Amino acid sequence: MRPIRKQLSPVPGDFDEYSDAKPDLISRLGMYCSYCERPVSTNLAVEHIEPKKGPHGQPHLTNRWENFLLACVNCNSTKGDKKVDLQNLLLPDRDNTSAAFVYRKDGNIDIHNALTQQQATLAENTLKLVGLDKPKSVALDANGKEVALDRVSQRMQAHLLAERAKDNLTACNLEPMRKQIVDTAFITGYFSIWMAVFDGEIDMKLRFVNAFKGTKDSECFNHVNADLIMPAPNPDSWSNGSKV
Ligand SMILES: [Zn+2]
Repeated sequence: MRPIRKQLSPVPGDFDEYSDAKPDLISRLGMYCSYCERPVSTNLAVEHIEPKKGPHGQPHLTNRWENFLLACVNCNSTKGDKKVDLQNLLLPDRDNTSAAFVYRKDGNIDIHNALTQQQATLAENTLKLVGLDKPKSVALDANGKEVALDRVSQRMQAHLLAERAKDNLTACNLEPMRKQIVDTAFITGYFSIWMAVFDGEIDMKLRFVNAFKGTKDSECFNHVNADLIMPAPNPDSWSNGSKV
């Protein structure tokens, strides 16, 4: 899960309508779901970290920047109005979520084994909250051909694309190829998968960190070697941050 810095609110006090925050969220974080990292060109929703309604709703946070991220329809609907306890979760705007998860070739997401037991529990809670722990659901077209509809399948697809890009770089290790790969990653989304596939390629990792908006500013990556910085510096001091 890509760490992001959304920076302080662009308006004094709360927004009049939470939807008014969408342009600033997109300009600072890019057109991606903050949880599953898929690119979302339409219907990307302003996500309320703590639900605004329901039995666990926090209506006073409905229009508050601190409570916003961006989410796709799958993550949004899975999360729904579930209770959110910031102490018991890892969040990309306040923790180094890149250090928490391992993106596997088969599309599944594991918890990083370097985490403490307590941190691992928080990471599991995050996956469960938005359904990133769900198994692959197979969708076939009329000809019996598998179609990548769910998030697991889309991660597998992104993984294959990133591996092909890495092969292309090996075959043609030139500056234009590096630029083309970053452009492809930017359009394809799934920052974490590109970082995983290009592990060991410091120059490419730094380019990905710089290309995806809000990630360099999160200060979760060393600016020289792209190493993870833990715990997250949480430069805007959001509550319950820096747990990983
Ligand atoms: Zn999502």
